[in-house]
Amino acid sequence: MKPQPSFDIDFDKRNNATLRIVCSKCGHENPHHLTSLSPDEDILCTQCATNITLDLEGINLATRKAAEIRQAYGA
Ligand SMILES: [Zn+2]
Repeated sequence: MKPQPSFDIDFDKRNNATLRIVCSKCGHENPHHLTSLSPDEDILCTQCATNITLDLEGINLATRKAAEIRQAYGA
């Protein structure tokens, strides 16, 4: 099983979920809008060019977490 990159989720002023995908190699946080993520599109760390692409499972997990956080904040 491929290890998933770890990530944090932020929300901007318009309540768009932004993932901060943590590079497994250098630890750099790479912000990407959740809606712009695709399992077919490679995401590379902007600092060291390591591939930090989330697969479909990872994107689904992030989508669920974002929904949970929205609920917790009553948004
Ligand atoms: Zn990196």
